[in-house]
Amino acid sequence: MHPNKYITFSFDDCEIYDRVLCDMFRRYGMKATFFLISDQLGFRCDFHRYGEDTVVERVAPEELKETYAGMEIASHTANHRCPVDDLENAVVKSAQYLSDLCGYKVEGMAYPGGQYTPEHVTELKRLGIQYARTVQVTHDFAVPREWLAWDPTCKYDDDHIMELADQFLEYQGEEPAVFHIYGHSYELTRKEKGCSFDDFERLLLKLSGREDIVYATNIEIVRRLKELR
Ligand SMILES: [Zn+2]
Repeated sequence: MHPNKYITFSFDDCEIYDRVLCDMFRRYGMKATFFLISDQLGFRCDFHRYGEDTVVERVAPEELKETYAGMEIASHTANHRCPVDDLENAVVKSAQYLSDLCGYKVEGMAYPGGQYTPEHVTELKRLGIQYARTVQVTHDFAVPREWLAWDPTCKYDDDHIMELADQFLEYQGEEPAVFHIYGHSYELTRKEKGCSFDDFERLLLKLSGREDIVYATNIEIVRRLKELR
């Protein structure tokens, strides 16, 4: 029997700390999707956040193939305006530009700030976008009813992440189950914050290497489960 349990990760905003995560995912034989702001690749500026002086530095166009090897690149729109407007430019052209850089068709996106309306769903469907992730967490493993409003299970630093991980590992039901964990790689660099790269690695250690689990990118799960329906 083909396994019916899927784990996927997604990370937004394409800051350079994605490099650390990609290395980690490859080391554990796991996969993730990275949502890139296509007009801001290579962009760098000083930025004050979380009460610290930090630098925002986004991955550069020429490093995409190597940095994200084995992972999925998808669109976080051209400019991160939220809610997203002008879908033709913000999404379709963004996906096309990213496709040219990475060498395969980019078909997925994440809504900036998670903001969307039913009109976005209708319009994105018409434009051929396969899925769009929100930031509305479900704390469950149900297959999304609408892939263009894909609510993730939780963030990686959720207070209940380890309990959810245990529940998922124990799950033996008939229905397909999807554990979708999302976040931003720069959050793992926060000095005063609970979840570090080491904590994140402990999560991967716990969830990796299972025969009964498919480790997949977002688009791989969408394709597989659309086929099954
Ligand atoms: Zn974002």
